Amino acid sequence: MPDIAVDLGTANTLIQVKGRGIVLNEPSVVAVERRTGKPLAMGLEAKRMLGRTPEGIVAVRPMRDGVIADVDVAELMLRHFLGQVAPQGFFRLKPRVVVGVPSGITEMERRAVRAAVAGAGAKEVFLISEPMAAAIGVGLPVLSPRGSMVVNVGGGTTEIGVIALAGIVADASIRVGGNEFDEAIMAFIRKSYNLLIGESTAESIKIQVGSAHPTGQEREMDVNGRDLVSGIPKTIRVYSEEIREAIQEPVQAIVGAVRRALEVTPPELSADIVDEGIVMTGGGALLKGLDVLLAAETGLPIHLDNEPLTCVVRGAGIVLDEWEKYSGVLSIR
Ligand code: ADP
Ligand code: MG
Repeated sequence: MPDIAVDLGTANTLIQVKGRGIVLNEPSVVAVERRTGKPLAMGLEAKRMLGRTPEGIVAVRPMRDGVIADVDVAELMLRHFLGQVAPQGFFRLKPRVVVGVPSGITEMERRAVRAAVAGAGAKEVFLISEPMAAAIGVGLPVLSPRGSMVVNVGGGTTEIGVIALAGIVADASIRVGGNEFDEAIMAFIRKSYNLLIGESTAESIKIQVGSAHPTGQEREMDVNGRDLVSGIPKTIRVYSEEIREAIQEPVQAIVGAVRRALEVTPPELSADIVDEGIVMTGGGALLKGLDVLLAAETGLPIHLDNEPLTCVVRGAGIVLDEWEKYSGVLSIR
């Protein structure tokens, strides 16, 4: 059975095919011609156009904030990606498709995901909540009575789940993720330096000099943008201390959500989490010092997965590989 695991993320879409590993890993971006609505590019090619597109072209993130902002564009993108990895006639083999979705997703959004995947050719579509998939992906014992906690920091959302006996016992989900760090950096640079920078530049600043907590090594970098007053391109130098300050609001929102999830966790499971700690997944978890900050704020051991960007698709893949064992985790609220 040529089963397929999909992580339809706000920032990145990943596809894993049974027996072939991860066959696609592309930004969830579609470049659309404004006048006709015609898609011109998808994935990495479209992301490269973000902020550089001529007036007639818009780069759309169909999964903005962890929900399907645009069903038609999402379906188009998914069809395109599935078409890239699946040879002709592939869907006649009736693959089972497991898709990771945010736990805070509404019934209507869930239907939209199903429709998009079915529209792309899948015969059977199963949904798995992201924190559950991420937990399975990092090898947490989700079927055991012992409690495990996972914090998945994506591009548009942070999903927190306390898991035991194949179910999510306590959770919290906020529409704050790595993209909010980028936005905070853009706003800070505009306000403090009168400089306009694009989303991709903000993301580079975050990755190169961004941090949630002092790391013991302060950094700096040069940044190009457009001067708000003169309209002329200009270069400034930014420092890790000021960037850390600039992103504190979204960082603290994530800390707050972790706290709330801990507060609603049943005491027996809290005791397990004290022993085992929290596992962080998702690309946003790579922000330097976020693990140290969470450890300081919660007093709990924090583990960062080695490959936080692929946990969800790997987890969905494990569910397909060990169907008898794991299919019980698929029923989400
Ligand atoms: P989603 O599941 O929503 O698609 P991902 O798990 O793919 O999100 O994570 C994407 C986010 O991770 C983006 O905001 C991206 O900027 C951020 N990210 C990726 N690498 C790093 C890094 N090294 N440091 C900080 N943030 C990172
Ligand atoms: Mg994700």
